[in-house]
Amino acid sequence: MDSVECVVVGAGVVGLAIARRLARAGLEVIVLEAAETIGTVTSSRNSEVIHAGIYYPSGSLMARLCVSGRRALYDYCRDHGVPHRACGKLIVATAAAEVDKLQSIRAHAECNGVDDMQALDADAARALEPALQCAAALLSPSTGIIDSHALMLSLRGDAEDAGAALAFHAPLLRARVIADGFELDVGGDAAMTLQCRLLINAAGLAACTVARNIDAMPIDRIPPAYYAKGNYFSCGARAPFSRLIYPVPEPGGLGVHLTLDLAGQARFGPDVEWIDSIDYRVDPARAERFYPAIRRYWPGLPDGALMPGYSGIRPKIVPRAVAVQDFMIQGAAQHGVAGLVNLFGIESPGLTSCLAIADLVGDLATSTAEAA
Ligand SMILES: Cc1cc2nc3c(=O)[nH]c(=O)nc-3n(C[C@H](O)[C@H](O)[C@H](O)COP(=O)(O)OP(=O)(O)OC[C@H]3O[C@@H](n4cnc5c(N)ncnc54)[C@H](O)[C@@H]3O)c2cc1C
Repeated sequence: MDSVECVVVGAGVVGLAIARRLARAGLEVIVLEAAETIGTVTSSRNSEVIHAGIYYPSGSLMARLCVSGRRALYDYCRDHGVPHRACGKLIVATAAAEVDKLQSIRAHAECNGVDDMQALDADAARALEPALQCAAALLSPSTGIIDSHALMLSLRGDAEDAGAALAFHAPLLRARVIADGFELDVGGDAAMTLQCRLLINAAGLAACTVARNIDAMPIDRIPPAYYAKGNYFSCGARAPFSRLIYPVPEPGGLGVHLTLDLAGQARFGPDVEWIDSIDYRVDPARAERFYPAIRRYWPGLPDGALMPGYSGIRPKIVPRAVAVQDFMIQGAAQHGVAGLVNLFGIESPGLTSCLAIADLVGDLATSTAEAA
């Protein structure tokens, strides 16, 4: 039977960053990926924004890993030629009643270590973005955009250069705890049984299912899985903005915001649609809610400009009624299974945070192998 030191389940941006981190630390790593190639699920269905770390609850994993991950990601992109741009983002108060909220957003961001935000009055904001309608705005210069696929290709290349191997069409079906590790049933094209000492569950939307298929994993340590879909609309007209535009957040979401890809093409969303099963279709009728929301900050949005784009699904581990969730990253101290790390609820800002998550998991993997 084949044996390897470490198996990472999932070749999304997080699994790839972890594989890179562990392989560069000298571990023998195999990445098992159910799909035909890297990054076909949530890692290619997102906004490709490098988040500054403004809104997350202070002290949460999201806040800490976003801020450190963002710094690491900009350095990584510069060093490895990954296309990106620190284009900045404007958070806009579209009515006088919202202006005070900008102050509290800025204060909260500072608590999170985001200390470069600038308050702008309406004229200063319009000097940056002449098509914008607003009463005031906050500029976040450290928010940016990235080519997420180029990032994943680069992480994969680094991991392979450090000796990691990737297996595609290779879903992890079940894992049993054995002396000093795990015995894995792998399905797909080259079905096999594989032994490993460390098992990292970075299966994204399927992470809770994967955890349930690990025989020693205590069920009460596995969070429930919920899906919150985010729909995007693309814009047929040229959007006259060079920065990302976000309204003041509303309860339950960031509001219908405008993001840009590296070619300057605008997209609007994601909104929040709680669903029971995975379905990526975008209902064109949802555009009717986008138009009025966008026109609050861009009155010039032409009729008929919005077209259904794509969608991504947030791997939620708290139900709709709970407004805030954090990343849940468990080692043996949390679940009692030596050598196992589970990553649950890695929604936004998981792309921004991937290198920081990988560092955390790298440390946890080493200590978790010795614990329990
Ligand atoms: C709508 C939306 C917008 C977002 N926007 C941003 C943003 O702008 N900025 C940001 O920082 N973050 C953003 N995110 C979050 C970010 O996209 C995710 O946090 C990140 O992509 C998660 O990566 P992952 O590797 O954990 O998961 P995934 O990319 O889903 O990868 C998991 C992999 O595991 C594989 N897998 C599943 N089950 C098995 C199995 N049994 N065996 C083997 N393989 C398996 C899957 O095929 C998949 O390839 C957004 C998310 C959503 C949903």
